[in-house]
Amino acid sequence: MSVASVIVDVAAKQTDRAFDYAIPDKWKGIIVPGMRVVVPFGPRKVQGFVVALKEEAEVKRVKPIADLRDLTPVLTPELLEIGHWLTEKTLCFMISAFQVMLPAAMKAKYDKELSLLSKEAYEQLHEQVKPFFQSRSSLKWSEVEKTAAAPAFHRDIQKGLIEVVYVVKNKGNKKTAKGVKLNQGLEDIQQFMSELNKQAEKQKQVLSFMLDRNEEVAIKEIAEGLQITSAPIKALINKGLLAETEIEIYRDPYQDRYFTPSKPFQLTDEQAEAIAPILHDIEENLHDVFLMYGVTGSGKTEVYLQSIDQVLKKGKEAIMLVPEISLTPQMVKRFKERFGSKVAVLHSGLSTGEKYDEWRKIQRKEVSVVVGARSAVFAPFENLGLLIIDEEHETSYKQEENPRYHARDVAIYRGQHHQCPVILGSATPTLESFARAQKGVYKLLTLKQRMNKSSMPSVDIVDMREELRSGNRSMFSTMLFEKMKDRLEKGEQIVLFLNKRGHSSFVMCRDCGYVPTCEHCEISLTYHRYQNKLKCHYCGHEEHVHTECPECHSEHIRFFGSGTQKVEEELTKVLPEARVVRMDVDTTSRKGAHEKLLNKFASGEAQILLGTQMIAKGLDFPNVTLVGVLTADTMLNLPDFRASEKTFQLLTQVSGRAGRHKLPGEVVIQTYTPEHYSIQLASQHDYDAFYKQEMEIRKMHKYPPFFYLALVTVSHENIAKVVSVTDKISQYLRQKLSPQTTILGPVASPIAKIKDRYRYQCMLKYKLEPSLIPLLKYILERYQAEMQKENLTITIDLNPYSMM
Ligand code: ADP
Ligand code: ZN
Ligand code: ZN
Repeated sequence: MSVASVIVDVAAKQTDRAFDYAIPDKWKGIIVPGMRVVVPFGPRKVQGFVVALKEEAEVKRVKPIADLRDLTPVLTPELLEIGHWLTEKTLCFMISAFQVMLPAAMKAKYDKELSLLSKEAYEQLHEQVKPFFQSRSSLKWSEVEKTAAAPAFHRDIQKGLIEVVYVVKNKGNKKTAKGVKLNQGLEDIQQFMSELNKQAEKQKQVLSFMLDRNEEVAIKEIAEGLQITSAPIKALINKGLLAETEIEIYRDPYQDRYFTPSKPFQLTDEQAEAIAPILHDIEENLHDVFLMYGVTGSGKTEVYLQSIDQVLKKGKEAIMLVPEISLTPQMVKRFKERFGSKVAVLHSGLSTGEKYDEWRKIQRKEVSVVVGARSAVFAPFENLGLLIIDEEHETSYKQEENPRYHARDVAIYRGQHHQCPVILGSATPTLESFARAQKGVYKLLTLKQRMNKSSMPSVDIVDMREELRSGNRSMFSTMLFEKMKDRLEKGEQIVLFLNKRGHSSFVMCRDCGYVPTCEHCEISLTYHRYQNKLKCHYCGHEEHVHTECPECHSEHIRFFGSGTQKVEEELTKVLPEARVVRMDVDTTSRKGAHEKLLNKFASGEAQILLGTQMIAKGLDFPNVTLVGVLTADTMLNLPDFRASEKTFQLLTQVSGRAGRHKLPGEVVIQTYTPEHYSIQLASQHDYDAFYKQEMEIRKMHKYPPFFYLALVTVSHENIAKVVSVTDKISQYLRQKLSPQTTILGPVASPIAKIKDRYRYQCMLKYKLEPSLIPLLKYILERYQAEMQKENLTITIDLNPYSMM
């Protein structure tokens, strides 16, 4: 094979196909599909993925591949195929599909290089530029960028005296250490050892150490192991008995932690019944999708662990997805305790280097279990025996940028490919999944009882309007406050949950109701106490805090709403004796902060854990007997058809934090709309009733799971342009699609402006539209030129989760 088809690292419509390159003789038989190469592309060099090999190119003259980045393919044949499938499923470019499967460290970085076009050109260079080229003909742009000569360089580039070349940076991704290996046969070494004199005792020790190990060993490790300097090792290298090598060392975020090995539990009858069909599939190499519907604390995780164990016994591999795993160190611990070093952990809390190292362990087949967030679904295993998605209802499984894939779809696709089971687990499954289980598309496994037969916590709903009417202006209702006091006296713990993303409040005029909003994004500005500033959460725009209302000149303009920081302040006022741990984006942004804060709570050092969404999942503290939800309404009022579902899920999850063990738990939900069915049914722990009621509404308004959705969003700086393009797209789709399909729009998106760009959308609700994908592709093609030249953006989201 002498030609390679390469997908190049240029995300654009015209380059979204394979290009042919000649394979230089030295790499014939070495280059295979799935490897990264560097190829000339126009005036520059770019990275690309080899997708196929062939004897002859489609065009006459092909350029040769310039460089080879990998010695083993980074994409398996299966992943290459998934890449193709993703482009169809999500309308993304091939290159984006490949890149999303790999750790960020492997994404190509480019250096801009400047080179002098000819010797003659030197004389014509600007005086400021000349010194740079005095002794060389090329240099890096980064050397020039920040100097006063930069404008002069621009001029000379435009004059055509200097050429700009893009060069793929050869980043050292791997962390390596100097090591040695034996360089001669056993007999020669023994011969040499017997001839060594007394003074060279240390060299002898090194050699017998190496004979014992019979592998590459880091010099540092030998020196530490034998308590010697590196001198005798160097001597042996010089004598040719040892050869120097580079050994890859892993940055392991858990290396200093010891995990006590844990044994599987004897399963309860319910668990045994649930695991049986899974084990059967594993045994017989069958593919089914199981929906494991079990309340929190019903032992789902134990079923996952024992299923994985079975997979490992068969010599196969398993992937377990967890929502934003960095948020649940307890989950990592459970896996490490059960499977030890066979587990790799992939999540967003790791540094780029750490992520890369974990990925390498998978690629080298040094681990057989991966626990990770969304993108871990692409783990390059080749012998998969099981895929699990825990908390399958979590929206973080859907990627909100290109490629807009859902991890559930990828998992099921891989399960089919490997003929192995897929488990979706949740206490509050998405309506889509539960409906599929009702129809028999998925197999339903139910866990009704909590472990230790502990009952679900009792839930009280407090009407905050009543509180106001009776004169309580605090953010804590009388009931919640009394219960908190009671727990503190008993030495039990409390979780307070604030369903709000920000960490502070917005500003409002008490006299006229004016709220400062961002002039670019049309959302209310957030008050940041430490900097005493107002900030926009979308674009970062900042303003000074008003001392007087710009509308009515009242001085009664102040902060409103309760951010976690504000709640903390009030807590210290009303319960000065309580020690509080606050967890939100502010307090957890530093690496490791998350775990530290949780430990502080777990150890009992603090009695109250106060936080946002991030404390709703997976935490399990035996001493927590009270959970307070400060305002349940915030999520109910989002412009999203899933708002009720999300509120139900969240309230159920939060309630699940209380009373998981011997002590009984109580939950207090504060709300301004106590009669809403989401809040009522969540307080009764009645998923089935919620499912029925919500399905009625979905059916009535033509939403999933009865209809499919597609969302087309158009954005541009010019509002007229946005409206006209969205209008044309809507009209075109109306003409071409069946009358059964609903086309909503064009309308302004819920967030009508982000970073000075207007956003309009049109939404499709359809049941069967075989020609939808080709039509949408046609639209993208039709506007390709405008997207490239005029900065127009059209995004298409099939099965959207975020409607903003
Ligand atoms: P879920 O994942 O459904 O929330 P877990 O698997 O975390 O439930 O189980 C809840 C608790 O019960 C955990 O502390 C777990 O260690 C324990 N547990 C699970 N299965 C068993 C069992 N068969 N016997 C005893 N304890 C169990
Ligand atoms: Zn005012
Ligand atoms: Zn803004």
